[in-house]
This record gives sequence, structure tokens and C-alpha cells, in this order.
Amino acid sequence: MYDHNSIFARILRGEISSKKVLETEYTLAFYDAFPKASVHILVIPKKPYVTFHDFISGAESEEILDYYKVIDTIVRSQGLNDTGYKLLVNSGEGGGQEIPHFHTHVMG
Ligand code: AMP
Repeated sequence: MYDHNSIFARILRGEISSKKVLETEYTLAFYDAFPKASVHILVIPKKPYVTFHDFISGAESEEILDYYKVIDTIVRSQGLNDTGYKLLVNSGEGGGQEIPHFHTHVMG
């Protein structure tokens, strides 16, 4: 079940500040507050999905395309295509997901 009081839900409502990297109609990207790599950016859909499955099965194609285009734009604009990078999704409790709003870690 989606938690409307999670940290990312509150960031989306502007109740908690974040260091924004990129924003589109469907997607928001911001710096991870506790970076585990030189570049550590989180990319989230604006609509309420908990897991990867929720996102893929619930979102419109336009929204999904926008999401992955934002990730690609970040990869290129941060110079990560040259250095190499990781895209990480933790999904569900057993997958180590701490914040129950679907997100991808972009780490380089
Ligand atoms: P996960 O374990 O995949 O759910 O990742 C959650 C991520 O959110 C972690 O890497 C945290 O460092 C990050 N995080 C927690 N609180 C904030 C915050 N207020 N702003 C930005 N990132 C956060």
C-alpha cells in the first residue's frame, strides 16, 4: 500500500526540501541526501507507485518513457557515459527498499 507520508511523497509535495537535478511533467530527480558514490541521484515518478512492478503495470507508456529518458539525460549530463555507472532499484522489504515510493539510484 502506498504511504502518502513517506519522505519522497513529502518531497513531491514540497514539504521536505531536496536538491533538484531535473524535473519533467512525470518525473523528478534529486541528489541522494546520504550519497554512497561521487554522483548519487535518485529518480522518482511523480505518481504514487511503491515497487518496480507497480510502476510498470500501473503507469502510462508516456510516463515510463519519460522516466527512462530522464535517467538517460542525467547519465549523459553528469558525464557518466564516459566513466561508467550503476542503475539500482531496491524493490520491497526483501529487496532492501527503505522508502516505499519507486525510485532508481543513479550512481557513478
Ligand atoms: P532505498 O533504500 O532504495 O529505499 O533508498 C532510499 C534512499 O533515499 C537512500 O539512498 C537514502 O540515502 C535516500 N534518502 C533518505 N532520505 C532522503 C532525503 N530526505 N532526501 C534525499 N534522499 C534521501
